[in-house]
Amino acid sequence: MTTTTAAESRSTDPVAGENRSTENRTVDSRTADLERRIAQDPGGFRVLTGDRPTGALHLGHYFGSLRNRVRLQDLGVDVIVLIPDYQVITDRDTAERLGEYTDGLLLDYLALGIDPARSTVFCHSAVPALNQLMLPFLSLVSVAELNRNPTVKDEIAHSRQSTVSGLMLTYPVHQAADILSCKGNLVPVGRDQAPHLEVTRTIARRFNERYGQVFPEPDILLSAAPLLLGTDGTKMSKSRANSVPLSATADETARLLKSATTDADRHITYDPATRPNVSSLVLLAALCIDRDPHEVAAEIGDGGAAALKRTVTDAVNGHLATFRARRAEYAKDLTYVRSVLRAGNERANALAETTLDEVREAMGAFR
Ligand code: ATP
Ligand code: MG
Repeated sequence: MTTTTAAESRSTDPVAGENRSTENRTVDSRTADLERRIAQDPGGFRVLTGDRPTGALHLGHYFGSLRNRVRLQDLGVDVIVLIPDYQVITDRDTAERLGEYTDGLLLDYLALGIDPARSTVFCHSAVPALNQLMLPFLSLVSVAELNRNPTVKDEIAHSRQSTVSGLMLTYPVHQAADILSCKGNLVPVGRDQAPHLEVTRTIARRFNERYGQVFPEPDILLSAAPLLLGTDGTKMSKSRANSVPLSATADETARLLKSATTDADRHITYDPATRPNVSSLVLLAALCIDRDPHEVAAEIGDGGAAALKRTVTDAVNGHLATFRARRAEYAKDLTYVRSVLRAGNERANALAETTLDEVREAMGAFR
């Protein structure tokens, strides 16, 4: 589960249109170059990435980011995973079931192979120095820049709030504080995060120009499935009731995948540009069984959507069987699971306090 699969190296983005092909090639070559640099010097990289505790982690998380995190950890990269609890209230009034969702995330990380002896897991609310970085960072971006962030616009459109809070508009700056608090320089995320990473890079660059060199300009690391679609054909998201949770049972997984939107053409092909829904399912199966998506589609051929869904369901359930068994084991010892977060919070505090000291020093007057 932790190596780059054949499907990953061969496949393309399931939702990319024709007009994205040049951009895709550029992204592919940048990713290949980055992977080369990581392989040469894994110790030169520190990952910071994470998942909001707003629900159960799903297949989009797994193929978009989680699998890369474990792979990078196993290569020797310092991996830091953030559970951004403060960011839950960017798009809702209160953080419901925060403890339960946080436990769920921890169980998923451990069962997927995040190793607390080598990697760190922490949460926002436990690291005051990280949150203090938000103030100088906010001074480095304009309101116009915040207003035109496409992912924030999309999330406002899907928000359950009738007004847009200041936190919603500024949360990409909070993410810059997350990443830069520990001087993360590698961010394995889904495509929705690309505009936010640009904000982080801009803040790092402007801070360095204004006050002297303190921060790295982090690189984004996209996977072969940077935008997996949910059962309704839009981005699979915890908060949109369209996801297939990693922790679902085999039967629940079958039921959810059966409800996935496809199209009217009975002949199954892998063509992300014109058939995003069918292609996202084909890619999902291909990633699970480490096959080329074109070959997977060709084998299903005239079997139609029903055969496609059976193939995907078997592939997902087969791929996740070990993970699910391990998760059930960890769930028996929540005391241990929560101790992982406490230890991670300690390390994250130490890193963020060091960074905040450097920031104050660079800014001169703030002591
Ligand atoms: P929410 O609906 O609460 O925003 P989410 O499903 O969008 O939840 P996040 O916690 O916002 O999940 O994202 C965590 C990480 O998973 C990010 O790196 C994000 O890019 C990645 N990710 C989320 N959904 C997908 C997806 N459908 N495909 C690929 N990557 C994804
Ligand atoms: Mg999200």
